[in-house]
Amino acid sequence: METTESRAQRAPELFEALGGTVADGFPVIHSSVSHTERGTPYLKAPGVVMLARPRTNVAGLAGFLEGFDPELRFPEYLDDPTRLPDSTQLCKTAGQTCYMSFGPRRTKNENAAAYIERLTSAGHGSVLEHASFSFLLYGISRSVTHELVRHRAGTGFSQISQRYVSGAVLRFVERPEYQEDEELHRLFEERADRAASEYEAMAEQLLERQGGGNSMLSADYKTDARKKVQQTARSLLPNETEAPIVFTANVRALRHIIEMRADAHAESEIRTLALRLFLCAVTADPILFGDYRVGELLDGTFTVTTENRKA
Ligand SMILES: Cc1cc2nc3c(=O)[nH]c(=O)nc-3n(C[C@H](O)[C@H](O)[C@H](O)COP(=O)(O)OP(=O)(O)OC[C@H]3O[C@@H](n4cnc5c(N)ncnc54)[C@H](O)[C@@H]3O)c2cc1C
Repeated sequence: METTESRAQRAPELFEALGGTVADGFPVIHSSVSHTERGTPYLKAPGVVMLARPRTNVAGLAGFLEGFDPELRFPEYLDDPTRLPDSTQLCKTAGQTCYMSFGPRRTKNENAAAYIERLTSAGHGSVLEHASFSFLLYGISRSVTHELVRHRAGTGFSQISQRYVSGAVLRFVERPEYQEDEELHRLFEERADRAASEYEAMAEQLLERQGGGNSMLSADYKTDARKKVQQTARSLLPNETEAPIVFTANVRALRHIIEMRADAHAESEIRTLALRLFLCAVTADPILFGDYRVGELLDGTFTVTTENRKA
C-alpha cells in the first residue's frame, strides 16, 4: 500500500487534531456520541482514555546502592539531573540492573533515547515488560475487541458483559466507510435503530416467557434471571455493537500490538484504534515509543511503523 511522506514529527499535531488532551499526565482522546432520529446512540471513532501509567521510585534505590564499595560511586545514580518519563526510567533502571550500570560510566538519563533504541533494535525487549499502561477503550465495535483480545502475551482485558448490562447502555459504532456515503450512512442508522428495537422486543418476549415458567429462562435470583434474558437477547446484536473494554499492556506487548494493528494491512477500524493508542502512548512517553513513524495512506488514513519491530 502506498504512503505519502513519513510524518514522524506529526504525532503531537495529530494528537491535538484528534482532540487529544492531557490532564495530570494522562493523555485522552475522547469520542463524541451521535444519535439517530429515533434516538439510538452511536459513535464514529474510538475513544481512548489512559487510566494508568507507571510511577517509578528511583530514590528508593538509595539503600541498595549505598551498600556497595563507595569507590564504585553507585549513589550518583540518584542525582541524574535529567527527569525521564517514569515508564522509561523504570525500563532503563531494570536494564541497568542487569549489568549493575550505576556508576559514573553508566548511560546517563540524557542519553536514554539511544539506550532504549539499542534495546529495541537488538530485540532485547524483555526490559520493556516492566512498564505497563492501562486504557479505557470505547467507541469500538465487538469485531474490533474480538481482534484485540487475540493478543494474549502481556495483556489484560475487562470487557462489557452483554449478559449483565441491559439495553439501556446499548450503543453502536459506525465504520468510517459508512460515514462518508449518504446511502451507507442511512442504512447504518436504520440497522442501529432496528437492532436496538429488536433487542428490546426480544428482551420483553423473553421476560414474558420467564414469567410464564420457561425452564431454560427461569432462575432463583433476580440477577441470574436478568442474565438469562440478556444472554439470550444479545444473540441478535450485530458486530457493530459498541463493546467498551479496559485494556492493559506492558510496553513490549503494546509496541507489538501497535505494529500489527496500525499497519497498512490491518483492518481499518482497529487501525484507527491503534493510531489513537499510539498517540496516547507516545504523548505519555516520547522515548519508549520514539522510534515510530506516522505515515498517511492515499485514502487519508494513517499507519504507524518502526524499523525496530517486535522488540
Ligand atoms: C492483518 C491481520 C490479519 C489477521 N487475520 C486473521 C485471520 O484471518 N484469522 C485469525 O484467526 N487470526 C487473524 N489475525 C490474528 C493473528 O493471527 C494473531 O492471532 C493476532 O494478531 C495476535 O498476535 P500474536 O500471535 O502475535 O499474539 P500476541 O499474544 O500478541 O503475542 C505476542 C508474541 O508472543 C509470542 N507468543 C504469544 N503466544 C505464544 C504461544 N502460545 N506460543 C509461542 N509464542 C507465543 C509470539 O511471538 C507472538 O507474536 C490477523 C491479524 C492481523 C494483524
